Amino acid sequence: MEKRVLGRTGWRISTIGFGAIKLPQLSQKECDLLLNQALDLGINFVDTADCYGDSEEKIGNALKGRRKEFYLSTKIDERDGAGVLKKLGRSLQRLKTDYIDLVFFHDVRESEYGRIFTEGGLRVLQKAKKEGKLQEIGISIHHSLSLMREAIESGHFSVLMIAYSPLDEDRLASDLIPFAYENGVGLIAMKPLAGGKLGEARGWEKTFFKGETSAQISLRYILTNPYITCAIPGMTNLNELKENIAVSVNPRALTSDEIRRLMDWVGGIGKGFCRNCGYCLPCPEGIPIPDIFRLETYAFQYGMKSWAKEQYRELSVKGDHCTSCEQCLSHCPYDVPIPKRLKEIHKNLSF
Ligand code: SF4
Ligand code: SF4
Repeated sequence: MEKRVLGRTGWRISTIGFGAIKLPQLSQKECDLLLNQALDLGINFVDTADCYGDSEEKIGNALKGRRKEFYLSTKIDERDGAGVLKKLGRSLQRLKTDYIDLVFFHDVRESEYGRIFTEGGLRVLQKAKKEGKLQEIGISIHHSLSLMREAIESGHFSVLMIAYSPLDEDRLASDLIPFAYENGVGLIAMKPLAGGKLGEARGWEKTFFKGETSAQISLRYILTNPYITCAIPGMTNLNELKENIAVSVNPRALTSDEIRRLMDWVGGIGKGFCRNCGYCLPCPEGIPIPDIFRLETYAFQYGMKSWAKEQYRELSVKGDHCTSCEQCLSHCPYDVPIPKRLKEIHKNLSF
């Protein structure tokens, strides 16, 4: 498989990594098979998070004899020192390892970024790094370009994980991605198939793309950008694993004609569903619109319903606060019927 260097970590990782967000949908036995096949076929980067159900536990059980064969990454959704320490200990235990290669602050928003520094989360990870419990510290940010830039400039994070698929071309590729690269910050693309949306097409791709699937073309598109080290699609079976890995086994950049055709297709499917760009904010009621859409994706596309409901319950302002003022509608470039969808999601995620 093709490997690329992950920023200043210097690690050479496979351009397709194993995204473990869907492992809670599988039995331990299925995880054992799939994860071992992934390593056997050349993947050397496995990414999970403490909030992905029992994903950490399943990885720990499946790969405990092969720890030196791959880079292991997890994410922590706490910001304060005590919370980070507790979650790090739990991750080490669940992953059945005495070190984690890469630990991310997970899904950091503008309103909480400062807490990483003022409430001790970063200090705890830096200390754990000195103690050999982890090797590198990263940060994952879903939709704030200014926050991504601030995190890169801070010099504290050697890897940035961003939600990046062909649907995100317009807002990320031209500026932010090269900036991260120039600053030695490795870039990993999460949600490269937009929660499965880009893997759903069947048929159209065969005409234009030499028989490759829409998922493969989408992954090729991401990796055509030389500054992206790795994409981490979620996988649940051997067919998906082989489909994804083929992109890295036979790497090639898309031609400009192929990119144009892909963008034409993406333009058609991109309307009407949320891409988490955040352009609709701020809402006068304080509704975290993109966060709510993301929780819906976690619940119904990644099979994390109870976790998503729990997270939704903890939001101080929920979808039912929407007054249908329609202020957000003119800011959404993707024609998402926001007030209507918020009401639906509220119904689906409320206990
Ligand atoms: S329509 Fe609802 S979500 Fe949109 S700005 Fe108004 S209150 Fe906020
Ligand atoms: S609702 Fe529209 S503007 Fe708001 S985050 Fe989603 S896609 Fe972007």
